Amino acid sequence: MLNNNLTTYTKKEHKLPLAEIHPAAKKIIEKLVDHGFEAYLVGGAVRDLLLGLHPKDFDIATDATPEEIKHIFKNKCRIIGRRFRLAHIYMGNAIYEVATFRGSDPGDRVIKKGQIIRDNVFGSIDQDAIRRDFSCNALYLDLLEENILDFAEGVKDLKSGELRLIGNPNKRFVEDPVRMLRAIRFNAKLGLEITDELKQHIISNRHHLHKVPAARLFDETVKLFHCGHMEIAFATLRELKMLELLFPNAAKHIDKNPVWHEFLTTAFRNTDTRLKHGLSVTPVFLTACVLWLEFLPLYDQLCIKGKNPHDALHEAAGKVMADQRQVLMIPKAIQNGVRQMWMLQLRFKKMYGKGVYGTLHHPRFRAGYDFLLLRAQVEKEFEAQAEFWTNIQSMSPEAVKSLIFGKKVKRKKLDHKL
Ligand code: ATP
Ligand code: MG
Repeated sequence: MLNNNLTTYTKKEHKLPLAEIHPAAKKIIEKLVDHGFEAYLVGGAVRDLLLGLHPKDFDIATDATPEEIKHIFKNKCRIIGRRFRLAHIYMGNAIYEVATFRGSDPGDRVIKKGQIIRDNVFGSIDQDAIRRDFSCNALYLDLLEENILDFAEGVKDLKSGELRLIGNPNKRFVEDPVRMLRAIRFNAKLGLEITDELKQHIISNRHHLHKVPAARLFDETVKLFHCGHMEIAFATLRELKMLELLFPNAAKHIDKNPVWHEFLTTAFRNTDTRLKHGLSVTPVFLTACVLWLEFLPLYDQLCIKGKNPHDALHEAAGKVMADQRQVLMIPKAIQNGVRQMWMLQLRFKKMYGKGVYGTLHHPRFRAGYDFLLLRAQVEKEFEAQAEFWTNIQSMSPEAVKSLIFGKKVKRKKLDHKL
């Protein structure tokens, strides 16, 4: 290979547990090679296996173009993406991403003020390697020879525990500002260090995040939320002053009142724990937690002005979503879920009468209840409510009935306060 920077690691040297690679990923690579193309396992899977972790997905890189891939895999393949065209291959119930090597020739690459708007210029493996984000993500596993091809000293960085951006940080963060969020995610998830120098580059380039389409930014935020180490990522987002770019209003409220820092840290820690135990998570939950900081004072103000709690809740929620849309495009279904979770906080206050059944059977009960538990973890005044809704779930129907309709039930007039 005509590349001075290439280091090849043999199976004996890299000791990667090859048996952990999904058979379907191997099959895709073999098929591409059978058709005369180069194909490698690349990115997160190679990195994670070297670190002794279980990869989340198996990405493949090849010199076949998306059309050539489509021709080989027929109806198992769908070409996706406009900004970055690649092939999705459907095998079993998983999707494998197969990306064509990107080249360095400017060709029809679309760049606006340094930002890559579209990158569909194809090239060779060594050109592809240096267009990747971090050195640890630019490792290629050749399944035939069982060697790892390392064009950017990724193995060395993995060993020394450094997350190293390939190339000039000012250029690479402007090209694609999402790389700054990816840095925070990989640092939290993999424990790879972001050097002080790189941190300074992130701080000085962070405003470029504004240029990322709001829908992509939301997707990246959810990846961060669900990376399994969001408590750490949150601390880094704060340290690098990135939270204000994703959730400007929430960031202001945290600065004003430290209880919100504790509230979000606890929310993120709870989600990390759920993921560690293999429990399901939904982006609705953490979105509701973060936006709550702006929502709550708005809702209060509207109630004080005389609005009834339901109207105030909808108006405040509408305003919060509209503000947030300027930065992050939260899908409608998630917005609705968030509203319902907040609405349930109002319903939880009513712990008697028929309404209790409606609350218990509400489709968002689980998320709303988890949110109440979170509030009770941080603020003592919610402990009694949390206890009521916890106990009632394990009671017999008769016991529930006597609890909510019994004579001793306190039917105090409910105020608007959430
Ligand atoms: P994980 O899948 O565990 O989140 P990953 O590194 O595999 O991590 P993907 O988003 O699956 O991340 O991307 C696969 C690979 O594509 C990366 O490892 C990296 O080499 C390259 N890549 C992804 N996004 C970018 C980007 N914004 N800039 C440069 N290279 C990228
Ligand atoms: Mg991946």
